[in-house]
Amino acid sequence: MEEKLIVRDYFNNTGFERWKRIYGDEAVNRIQHSIRVGHQRTCDRVLDWLGNISGKSICDAGCGLGSLSLPLAQRGAQVLATDISEKMILEASHRRQQLQLPPDNPHFEVLELERIGGHYDIVICLDVLIHYPLAQVEKMLAHLSSLAGEHLLITYAPKTLLFAALKKVGEFFPGANKTTRAYQHRSEDIEAILLRQGWKIVRRAAIDDKFYFARLLMTGR
Ligand code: SAM
Repeated sequence: MEEKLIVRDYFNNTGFERWKRIYGDEAVNRIQHSIRVGHQRTCDRVLDWLGNISGKSICDAGCGLGSLSLPLAQRGAQVLATDISEKMILEASHRRQQLQLPPDNPHFEVLELERIGGHYDIVICLDVLIHYPLAQVEKMLAHLSSLAGEHLLITYAPKTLLFAALKKVGEFFPGANKTTRAYQHRSEDIEAILLRQGWKIVRRAAIDDKFYFARLLMTGR
């Protein structure tokens, strides 16, 4: 089956339940707790880097439950947030309602990221590329770059000691051999793709916790 279909199926089923717990506030095991903490630090760092975003148009590609899209909208940005998983989008819309945000901001849509259209000041894609091999990542980053005016912000899982840790968190990924579904990428490869798309790397961060490893990049023109 095509990679994207496997990922979509996962995030509409067992993956949805698992990630809803991780991105929620109920008690979780220590691995899930570490991922929750690391992921929150990534979101906080993005919000910190972006500063005043009032009036900016932002696309959050692979938005999940809206952990970032919702605070972006609360800070006055106009947000399009899309995800390949219908279940994730439904839950994200529910969270928007609970926060009493307007029904169209974030505007949530079930949409695979290479099908997103339009033009945005800022495009963001957090903790999605880990699900795809490099050739697919290159296509995805080319598409996301074509949508972005000022900045593209992405995370990827670095090719480091992470591998050992991922063996332990294998339960979070789809497929029979669960660990093979979590792709790590070399920083050189990811940065080269972004440079080919005409970006400069303006900020880099390593956000690591016991079971969460991410490299966050912010590009500029
Ligand atoms: N970006 C969100 C965040 O940081 O809170 C969610 C991260 S979650 C680990 C990965 C999300 O990417 C899932 O909701 C999944 O459905 C979505 N996803 C995976 N592949 C996608 C694709 N090709 N297009 C759009 N969304 C995708």
